[in-house]
Amino acid sequence: PAKLYQFKLVLLGESAVGKSSLVLRFVKDQFDDYRESTIGAAFLTQTVSLDDNATVKFEIWDTAGQERYKACQSLAPMYYRNANCAVVVYDITQASSLEKAKSWVKELQRQADPNIVIALAGNKNDLSARRVVTTEEAQAYANEAGLLFFETSAKTSHNVQELFYSIAKKMPLD
Ligand code: GDP
Ligand code: MG
Repeated sequence: PAKLYQFKLVLLGESAVGKSSLVLRFVKDQFDDYRESTIGAAFLTQTVSLDDNATVKFEIWDTAGQERYKACQSLAPMYYRNANCAVVVYDITQASSLEKAKSWVKELQRQADPNIVIALAGNKNDLSARRVVTTEEAQAYANEAGLLFFETSAKTSHNVQELFYSIAKKMPLD
């Protein structure tokens, strides 16, 4: 039987970039255009089967408005404390959301567990007509900062499984 490895995963990023939608797609394979924003802490789990020997279980902590607080302030450190992995999300149609994502990455790299696995997700990939952040720009930043990188769409499912699967593959299994 496969051994089960459990990890805490946090979602970070500007409000409305699609953090909760990515989690909903990954965990329930659903999407809702008119989803109400998260109130209180949202906690969900999902497993990823790597092979016959290993299954990764993610305990997913979705932000519940913490994105409104500035980095280095208040609730955030409590939220990502003990996180083994993080998905930092921006919206490809909002340039400011990439800047915000970069500040989250910087904070995680300074304050979180030094072994944390960080993935950058450029979400709303389906809105290509409104794109302002190029794939090349984001990929170059991700390479430089040592992050996994995917452009995703919670709406169409594009790269959502791939994102979480690649994080699972990068987790240290002993
Ligand atoms: P959060 O505040 O980061 O958790 O963002 P939400 O998940 O609440 O999403 C904010 C809004 O963006 C909602 O209206 C979603 O339906 C929409 N949204 C989320 N992901 C996508 C996506 O991939 N494509 C499109 N077109 N809309 C999305
Ligand atoms: Mg949310």
